[in-house]
Amino acid sequence: MTIITPYLPKMAEMAIKDHPRPCFIRAVELDDRYTGYCRNCAGLGVVLISFSDSGPFHDIPTTRKPITYFDGDGQTGKGWYILGKTEEFTCPHCKGLSRTYTAPAKEQVDGERAYSRPTKIGALMP
Ligand SMILES: [Zn+2]
Repeated sequence: MTIITPYLPKMAEMAIKDHPRPCFIRAVELDDRYTGYCRNCAGLGVVLISFSDSGPFHDIPTTRKPITYFDGDGQTGKGWYILGKTEEFTCPHCKGLSRTYTAPAKEQVDGERAYSRPTKIGALMP
């Protein structure tokens, strides 16, 4: 498994710049056994950005809203963030097609089961 922090389309970069608080790029996991999927979005066809509403908090701030923990990077503080909206943007690498080439039929069937999902959170400052 390879964890990928996808690169973003211009529209996502602009949305992040417009948001006054830290934004988090959802990283994806690529199963290296299946080579047919896009190396940027791991086959999702989209990249996901979570826009935080508040934070960082030392303790878990709420159990009623989506939150995420970030380790801090010098610009964005370490702690818990309350997330507002999460938006999807068409992957700039595969243009939403999920694949970079047509894999053999059997690999496609197996690949569907190995479909990756967001598992980790990366950070990007506006
Ligand atoms: Zn893609």
